[in-house]
Amino acid sequence: MSGIYIHIPFCKQACHYCDFHFSTSLKLKNQMIRSIIKEIQLRSNEFPNEINSLYIGGGTPSLMENTDLELIFTALEKQVSLSDLKEITIEINPEDLHKNKLEFYKTLGINRLSIGIQSMDNKVLKWMNRVHDKKQVINGINNAKEIGFENMSLDFIYGTPSTLNRNYQDELLELLEFEPNHLSCYHLTIESGTYFGHLLKKNKIKTLEDDVSEEEFLWISNKMKSLNYEHYEISNFAIKGEESYHNSNYWKQRPYIGLGPGAHSFNKGKRRWNISNNVQYIKNIESTSVFHKEEVLSNYDSINEQIMLGLRTSKGFNLDNVVNNLKIKNKTAFENKLNRFIKEEIIFNKNNNVHMSPEKWLLSEYVSRELFILSE
Ligand code: SF4
Repeated sequence: MSGIYIHIPFCKQACHYCDFHFSTSLKLKNQMIRSIIKEIQLRSNEFPNEINSLYIGGGTPSLMENTDLELIFTALEKQVSLSDLKEITIEINPEDLHKNKLEFYKTLGINRLSIGIQSMDNKVLKWMNRVHDKKQVINGINNAKEIGFENMSLDFIYGTPSTLNRNYQDELLELLEFEPNHLSCYHLTIESGTYFGHLLKKNKIKTLEDDVSEEEFLWISNKMKSLNYEHYEISNFAIKGEESYHNSNYWKQRPYIGLGPGAHSFNKGKRRWNISNNVQYIKNIESTSVFHKEEVLSNYDSINEQIMLGLRTSKGFNLDNVVNNLKIKNKTAFENKLNRFIKEEIIFNKNNNVHMSPEKWLLSEYVSRELFILSE
């Protein structure tokens, strides 16, 4: 099964930590919608078979007017039967969770909301330059429940600097009172090119100490487990059976088609990514010139991806799929390193699925790098 991703590159304002592709000017909005629709038509023969999910992300797709989304859905309906999809998600910010908007989303067939909450403390929200406040979160989630959205994923950011004097535990517990079936918890990362990146360069912001980061990660993991959530990927938790189809497709390296500026696609070992520039994307789509770049993954790039993505999930990666594709010299070296990690109980092999336990996930990047195949 595979998925469709649509990138809507507009936001009301720039969050201080965000390095996604978006513009805070809506001047090109109508042209952008037309271009995304044209891309859907231009790539009609690239839609994978057996699609199970559609994900409208961004940016802030909930900034779009109902008619904009309707136009995109009508264009998509010509390529794929949307009513057959298991999951149709839209990213929405708390300030946009109005009943009339949510009712409209229902009529489009949207059955899952991914809500960017990040914090339940107004001081922290302001520090991040989020648009919303705590009251909008509470009213918004209640609105969504009233309209009948049962399937909600809430985004939360932890690992913020200790100088904020934040009580992330109380905030998370307050959020969990809404009983979401899915939670994405991300550690704050400070990327260059963002406002926080600029502050870091000037020594005006301090990242969290490693041992405190680890403590926060483990507290969240254990708390979520005690509340019957499965920690199924390093940053994601779900009630059993409620894991996201969209995310899982990506982690399992299934094909997906990404439409809109900056969107990535993947199929049969080929990865492509659209230009991350609104003006250029629109211009190139209008003149039917090339609006993307692509690369073909080598055999070992593909194996390394399986290792890296697998070690971040509770399912892990399939050992046969990796080993059977290795040449003898790489196979021996890989098995030696793998056995060392198994002996140290950092990695486990259960029925041929090689995985790490959540307590060890913070090491997954290092372990992946150690296991990587460096040449054919
Ligand atoms: S975090 Fe979301 S809302 Fe904030 S700037 Fe990034 S894409 Fe926009």
